[in-house]
Amino acid sequence: MNFSGWHLRPRCFLLPTAKQSYAHLAVFFTPHNSNRRTTQAATSYSSSSLITMAHKPVGGGGELLVVVGGGAAGVYAAVRAKTVAPELNVLVVEKAKLLSKVKISGGGRCNVTNGHCLDSQILAEHYPRGYKELRGSFFKTHGPGDTMAWFSDHGVELKIEDDGRVFPTSDDSSSIMDCLLNEARRRGVSLQTGKVVTSASYDPTGKFILKIEKRSLNLIEHAKADYTLIASGSSRQGHKLAEQLGHSIIDPVPSLFTFKVADSQLAELSGVTFPKVKAKLHLQDMKRNIPQLTQVGPMLVTHWGLSGPVILRLSAWGARNLFETEYKSDLHVDFAPDIHKEDLKALLSRHKEQFAKQKIINSYPPELGTVKRFWRYMLDREGIDGDILWASVSNSAVNAIASFLKNCSFGITGKGQFKDEFVTAGGVPLSEISLNTMESKIQPRLFFAGEVLNIDGVTGGFNFQNAWSGGYIAGTSIGNQALNANLHTSEEIMYNSEEFPG
Ligand SMILES: Cc1cc2nc3c(=O)[nH]c(=O)nc-3n(C[C@H](O)[C@H](O)[C@H](O)COP(=O)(O)OP(=O)(O)OC[C@H]3O[C@@H](n4cnc5c(N)ncnc54)[C@H](O)[C@@H]3O)c2cc1C
Repeated sequence: MNFSGWHLRPRCFLLPTAKQSYAHLAVFFTPHNSNRRTTQAATSYSSSSLITMAHKPVGGGGELLVVVGGGAAGVYAAVRAKTVAPELNVLVVEKAKLLSKVKISGGGRCNVTNGHCLDSQILAEHYPRGYKELRGSFFKTHGPGDTMAWFSDHGVELKIEDDGRVFPTSDDSSSIMDCLLNEARRRGVSLQTGKVVTSASYDPTGKFILKIEKRSLNLIEHAKADYTLIASGSSRQGHKLAEQLGHSIIDPVPSLFTFKVADSQLAELSGVTFPKVKAKLHLQDMKRNIPQLTQVGPMLVTHWGLSGPVILRLSAWGARNLFETEYKSDLHVDFAPDIHKEDLKALLSRHKEQFAKQKIINSYPPELGTVKRFWRYMLDREGIDGDILWASVSNSAVNAIASFLKNCSFGITGKGQFKDEFVTAGGVPLSEISLNTMESKIQPRLFFAGEVLNIDGVTGGFNFQNAWSGGYIAGTSIGNQALNANLHTSEEIMYNSEEFPG
């Protein structure tokens, strides 16, 4: 029987009687369209061979962890579990290609984490879903500093850019992929691709029965696992597995997107960037005042509307409400956030006096840091003739310009796409897992990590950090449980071997 490189190791069960033989069922397969007769991986051991195993160095004792999903969280967790418990059998089942999102992430450069948020409290504030729960042990156990140390200890040189984003110095995501996959292979993690885990249940002993399909070969396998880690990202299939094992799912909705604005004149400004604006999202039916719905930072005009860090952050904090209102909302932008409105009026009035003989279209205060195209857009929206001289500009027009710059409103009509990064809000509720271990509170030995959980961050490396932290904690917990299980099994075998010498 070919298990494609997956080496089975018998699990040491308790020894109920001497000289009894043990058949350990670990993985069996059923071809599609057959009568689904199961073929056991018939590995029989006499009690004496088990006793011999008990004297091997303590490791994972041959227990099996199946990781559903070979993304950032799954592979990192698999490596960690195998590091903690080298004798634990670790199988990663990936339906497509391993680390495919790592590959395309950050425009092909992979923004691994954020180097400006080493404090776990501050870091947690970057997660619209999770900011309360993640303030505890989660990032303290494995935060951005630990992630950076892990990659540099494993040979990947990293750099922190001015805005805090961390990239490999190669500016190539394959540095991160190669590192993870080499480490997984070196430690003996079995990585199987092109296979989908399509259903999950557990038997009376608490072991997981996972149905694994390789559709290209019309093959169905079943794995009997001691531990299951669901690290399936935002996939609906992963949510289904969680539901089959007793969990609920918070409906998934997109996060990190740009805003469509139906304004043809604004579209003409496509490419214009504003280094610093203060933007406030007014959500429909939103009674509470959420401070995160006001963001300060760069904004960019696109062909279809608005983008840039400020907009992406607002899209994340408003993701659920915007989804419910079909992405209809109002955005109020302050284009001069560092200038008080009265000071702005005074600045414009001084400019009016100083440049009285110039056409208003050609002259504006440099302190505004704006470009002519935007100035013209502003005059058009306010109905001010650009050909009039500053001398002829009325005080009410000065006030209107100041009001526009301090509180310009845009009607959001839809959701645009941000090609560099997008994530899903929703998934398994955090109330159903223990963040200290990433273990399910509903089903023992079931773990979750990464985007399958109701955690998502804003742009800047925060989403991968969730995957690394969750993967590390889950891998550590599973590894420790496997070590303990083996210790107990060894003790019991030794006890029995005294009673029933082989
Ligand atoms: C274009 C893009 C760019 C991004 N760039 C960045 C960035 O630079 N920095 C950052 O922090 N974040 C970035 N993100 C977000 C980041 O990629 C995700 O948050 C992260 O990949 C989540 O990791 P994960 O392991 O939880 O899920 P994933 O990476 O999605 O991995 C889950 C894996 O599980 C597999 N799978 C699902 N269901 C099954 C099943 N039933 N059986 C078998 N396999 C299954 C999937 O095929 C997938 O490979 C980006 C996202 C996108 C889309």
